[in-house]
Amino acid sequence: MKSKVLHKNAVGRFAPSPTGDLHLGSLVAATASYLNVKQQDGKWFVRIDDVDTARVVSGCDTQILKTLEAFGFEWDFVVYQSQRTEHYHQALSQLHSNDAVYTCHCTRKQLRDRTPFFPLYDRHCRDLQLSCHLEQQCALRLKTPLASDAQPCWRWQDLIRGDQQTHWQRDVDDFIVKRSDGFIAYHLACSVDDADFGITEVIRGADLLSATAPQQLIQALLGKASPTYGHHPLMIDRNSGVKLSKASAAPALNAAMAGSLLFEVLTFLGQNPPEELVFEPMSTIWQWAIAHWQRDKIKKDET
Ligand code: GLU
Ligand code: ZN
Repeated sequence: MKSKVLHKNAVGRFAPSPTGDLHLGSLVAATASYLNVKQQDGKWFVRIDDVDTARVVSGCDTQILKTLEAFGFEWDFVVYQSQRTEHYHQALSQLHSNDAVYTCHCTRKQLRDRTPFFPLYDRHCRDLQLSCHLEQQCALRLKTPLASDAQPCWRWQDLIRGDQQTHWQRDVDDFIVKRSDGFIAYHLACSVDDADFGITEVIRGADLLSATAPQQLIQALLGKASPTYGHHPLMIDRNSGVKLSKASAAPALNAAMAGSLLFEVLTFLGQNPPEELVFEPMSTIWQWAIAHWQRDKIKKDET
């Protein structure tokens, strides 16, 4: 199966989870995705990834938008995943009718005891035809190609890292599309949204590299177009030495230092901004950054 790629006006997005403040790592993802489409005169929107309402921190979405505004980002619109549930359920029933998903009753403990490759799944329930009654807590998993399949790997061209390949069984396995607690899983929500909103290029951190194959597979199974994907390296936090992924608990961005933080991010992204730019107003820094953006200057290291 191959993913369809659309060529039209660039549309990008930044998709924070409202579970904590934006930090320097988030600013890298927001900046790279923003410049990538702004340079093509495209559209950019902010998607608040709040399907997992149990993890949402109240007020966090507003704080995120305020921070983005203080840093001078201009978005075309904001969308909340919590308001898109019916689209995810439609996608699930389509996958169901195509026999692309199956019920799984395994608990984490059973999986951990059973497979040395935990948290990879061992496809235990794949052929058991289990049913799921309303009162039961069961997950739905997607059938990914088997190792014996003609195409046991998914290949794609990463806009930053080049040729990539994901082995379904070794790297991903039959991942969850609906969790046993009833929540829609990230891969399903994200791939449906990226397709439905006509995203042409997803630029995000390398911590999400392994998400691309599952998300493109879902889009292909639903007959939807896929964006292209680029994964930027992760910044290392100066104090802790930890890679700044979405999940890291790094200090919140300080809007009073917006200019120098943006300058630092542009430098990290290989854009080589002239030194005097750091003293300029945000609008001038953005103007320079949009006019000079070169995605191929981003380093391709393996972080
Ligand atoms: N909300 C997800 C995260 O913060 C979005 C990931 C993505 O950009 O696809 O990790
Ligand atoms: Zn199972």
